[in-house]
Amino acid sequence: MYRTNTCGELRITNLNQEVTLAGWVQKARKFGGMIFVDLRDRYGITQLVFNQEIDAALCEQAAKLGREWVVQVTGKIAERSNKNPNIPTGDIEIIASKLTVLNPSETPPFTIEDESDGGDDLRMKYRYLDLRRTPVRANLELRHRMAFATRSYLNENRFLEVETPVLIGSTPEGARDFVVPSRMNPGEFYALPQSPQTLKQLLMVSGFDRYFQIVKCFRDEDLRADRQPEFTQIDCEMSFVEQEDILNIFEGLTKYLFKTIKNIDLPDFPRLPYADAMKLYGSDKPDTRFGMQFVEIKDLTTGKGFGVFDGAEYVGAIRVEGCASYTRKQIDELTEFVKRPQIGAKGLVYVRYDADGSLKSSVDKFYSPEDLQKWVEKTEAKPGDLILILCGVTEKTQKQLGELRLEMGARLGLRDKNQYNCLWVVDFPLLEYDEELNRYFAKHHPFTGPKPEDIPLLETNPGAVRANAYDIVINGVEVGGGSIRIHNSELQKKMFSVLGFSDEQAQAQFGFLMNAFKYGAPPHGGIAFGLDRFVSIFAGLDSIRDCIAFPKNNSGRDVMLDAPSVIAQEQLDELYLKIELPEK
Ligand code: ASP
Repeated sequence: MYRTNTCGELRITNLNQEVTLAGWVQKARKFGGMIFVDLRDRYGITQLVFNQEIDAALCEQAAKLGREWVVQVTGKIAERSNKNPNIPTGDIEIIASKLTVLNPSETPPFTIEDESDGGDDLRMKYRYLDLRRTPVRANLELRHRMAFATRSYLNENRFLEVETPVLIGSTPEGARDFVVPSRMNPGEFYALPQSPQTLKQLLMVSGFDRYFQIVKCFRDEDLRADRQPEFTQIDCEMSFVEQEDILNIFEGLTKYLFKTIKNIDLPDFPRLPYADAMKLYGSDKPDTRFGMQFVEIKDLTTGKGFGVFDGAEYVGAIRVEGCASYTRKQIDELTEFVKRPQIGAKGLVYVRYDADGSLKSSVDKFYSPEDLQKWVEKTEAKPGDLILILCGVTEKTQKQLGELRLEMGARLGLRDKNQYNCLWVVDFPLLEYDEELNRYFAKHHPFTGPKPEDIPLLETNPGAVRANAYDIVINGVEVGGGSIRIHNSELQKKMFSVLGFSDEQAQAQFGFLMNAFKYGAPPHGGIAFGLDRFVSIFAGLDSIRDCIAFPKNNSGRDVMLDAPSVIAQEQLDELYLKIELPEK
């Protein structure tokens, strides 16, 4: 037997027991005639003591131990004279009587401590060592608990977990596919699923009624802090449901996770129509931990000789509480912020409503104190507040103002990681127009159903059609999204034609689905949660990478495995592939 106990479980109540532990040497320090060793495993750290006076040979053996050696130790539990209140085993230590080195270790390239001295790249290269660190391991433990609780909730609600294939044909979710060449079918490729969307819909046609899968999805997109080329979804689909049923079940899942994992009771989630989300927050995933909603003031700004406002389609303001004292420098910083190419505003107008009631703005030349007073009333500003204003084309400006709002929220400490605000954004538009390509795209995906009352608009004004589609948003992060699907092959055909597919193209790509719909497809709908994002919110992480065991870096590389990599000529030949790279 390698061990009788783990390194995290022994307490003062175990005094005088003889135990055997196994684990890694976190650190060893000499103190007079004694050697103290912190022995670590997944469960915690226990202090070992080797005493020169009790056993000199053993002590000599212990003196050779290095960091991260794997050892087995037998000894008796004693009370520590110098207790460590920071760890659960801090009241006791093991007076060692036997030591076996199970495996020595080279000195690790960085310290395996909560705060490591290793940089990002180094820790990624040696990810298996990084994973020994408690905070990193804790994220994966949390992930396990969330996945486990999810399975339990869905199982209780009669969902069946069904595996769908990873080698499939292309699924159009708007991103690029990862493809895999087929040796047995020369010149042909599988695609890795961007999601099991069409397959889960086919399972509904099969009568599975309630499906889920915790499943890897693959999208060849540019990477960001909240995006990885492969990521995990909690993918779900239900039959004989309306939007309301789905929102209830999955609001239930979210509340269940918060309760079981964090012991937080969440109130019911507000439902915000997409149009209002854009109008009030300039985002379809608003961070509702704080207010600072937009106020449109175009009507108050026009006709006073300020051409910039006069010519703008939209003039929007946010009221920033208590910031009238912002200095010139701080305002300049904000102006620089909104002018960054990623945001793209042309400038920023401000009004300071000083504590003494006086008004000072960057457009005093055009607006009298009486004019500004009206802005104050409409934005409900109080003395001491700062009003920030952007103008331009409506949608673009709302997005810019949305970024500024988030920035102000962050500066004012209103985005507290320990506060959780969940909401549903509903009534998304069905379609989105791409000015460059001159055509409509499905905002969610082409299987999303229009609101029945909006179906006639598909002919006359497709851009105005609302979908039975919804997103779940927590603290400004889109954690999940889904829709009620089209289950009628005629309507599905119509949808493909609005999206610019010819009948032949639609048949070639989605014939299997449209055919299936001819054989008694039930009304159905579903949702998918991004598990990585969900876990990072629970863990308070800035990047989803930290809750993935072996993540890829921002160039999509696994630096530990050195993937992707070139493959042997024979492999290429077998697949009839020729690589020709453009000259640099
Ligand atoms: N397949 C969709 C997605 O990955 C989710 C859904 O509609 O259920 O976003």
